[in-house]
Amino acid sequence: ASEEQVKNSTAPAMFDTEAANCLMKELRSTFLAGKTKSYEWRSSQLKSLLKMLEDSDKQICDALFSDLSKPEMEAYIHEIAMIKSSCKLALKKLKDWMKPEKAKTNLGTFPSSAEIVPEPLGVVLIISAWNYPLLLSVDPVIGAIAAGNAVVLKPSELAPAMSSLLAKLLGKYLDNSAIKVVEGAVPETSALLEQKWDKIFYTGNGRVARVVMAAAAKNLTPVVLELGGKSPVLVDSNIDLTVTARRIVSGKWGCNNGQACVAPDYIITTKQYAPVLIDSLKHHLVKFFGEDPMNSPDMSKVGHSRHFARLKKLLDDDKISGKIIHGGQTDKSNLKIAPTIVLDAPEDSLIMSEEIFGPLLPIVTVEKIEDGVEFINSRPKPLAAYLFTNTKQLKEEFVSNISAGGVVINDVTLHLMVDTLPFGGVGESGTGAYHGKFSFDAFSHKKAVLYRGFFGDAPARYPPYTPGKLRLL
Ligand code: NAD
Repeated sequence: ASEEQVKNSTAPAMFDTEAANCLMKELRSTFLAGKTKSYEWRSSQLKSLLKMLEDSDKQICDALFSDLSKPEMEAYIHEIAMIKSSCKLALKKLKDWMKPEKAKTNLGTFPSSAEIVPEPLGVVLIISAWNYPLLLSVDPVIGAIAAGNAVVLKPSELAPAMSSLLAKLLGKYLDNSAIKVVEGAVPETSALLEQKWDKIFYTGNGRVARVVMAAAAKNLTPVVLELGGKSPVLVDSNIDLTVTARRIVSGKWGCNNGQACVAPDYIITTKQYAPVLIDSLKHHLVKFFGEDPMNSPDMSKVGHSRHFARLKKLLDDDKISGKIIHGGQTDKSNLKIAPTIVLDAPEDSLIMSEEIFGPLLPIVTVEKIEDGVEFINSRPKPLAAYLFTNTKQLKEEFVSNISAGGVVINDVTLHLMVDTLPFGGVGESGTGAYHGKFSFDAFSHKKAVLYRGFFGDAPARYPPYTPGKLRLL
């Protein structure tokens, strides 16, 4: 999206503090009336959401193409199919998820029984990002509805076509007394952040996450922060080279052209193995995207002129001059950057200091593969860490010694498709998690409930505290 498209796409009427107050009042009263709590309401909303996805796939693909030139196949696999499957899972499991869970009691409370009752948090705010503008908006909304909350979604202004489509579709298919979309950029989000929410779920960069967390702290509002970071790929030399290269190429350039939070950010391999790995990466780039990848219909563009300028700055950094071994071409008017490989960029270069979030891939070489673990651990905890190896010991070391939001061995990015795994970061890459049942949990409070009768009172618990009573302990 260009600056102009973004400017023109913000909400027609200014959404300010007063509008945010009104919105909160309405949603709070819906929630307090208990409307969103029943199984029937939750499942009816999820069913409507599913219907919305089924009826609107063409419009969704068009919006994703307009915002990102996202290939239709990617739109289906990475966005539409993912949320359809989240929605279906929530519908299938909702009754189970809502059931209180029995808990064991002990002698100190005998006789008693206990359970953990999941309850909705109340009115929640979801702020989403532009790179998977459908998935990152609707997936958390599914969790919020399943858990029985009223919800406001604030899509990203950097994906204007999807933002306005979401406002239109959610307005048409869902219960607007409990589920609202607010379009807009910083002023609108700031007005929303002044409200007292019961949870804020934010997806985006770490700088804005600090703004969100500071606003939340004023009301002791809990947050989920789904952030990013530099996700490394450590590549050993005893691997299946073809499988490894094609998985990396597709995970980097075939997933929104590197603009994915879990995209491989940089590769580490040994000095000795680097040349064969690079040859195979180049070979698969041509195989997948042709000799002229800037014009490949199978590759998304850079999402926004601001991000194009940011990526150009990483490429123009003097510290990597002479180190670009593949690609490097840019086309500002079409927001395209060729798949680019950079060999041995210095640690203090921009490309090795900032999250790349685009089609550039630095390769770091080390003397021995184990040095890679040390390299990763000397940097902030990434959202994902990937390892390709056939060595059991290295796999074990990687899993036990590398702290990351998630780890995948011998592939990249796929962990986020497994709904029995929590998806989220750690440290600088975020806090909290979602997907599958974890989404329901992210928007629920687990209330501890202890049941007692009126008999079985041990006199020893009551004052006066005599020495005899003390001896009973
Ligand atoms: P973005 O620019 O779309 O911003 C995200 C949201 O923050 C938007 O809704 C935007 O309106 C809002 N925002 C921006 N500035 C704000 C401000 N000053 N105050 C309040 N709200 C503000 O997205 P982005 O940050 O460019 O997204 C890219 C980043 O997000 C990368 O770091 C990426 O790794 C991360 N990301 C993480 C995940 C995940 O699931 N962990 C998914 C996608 C992206």
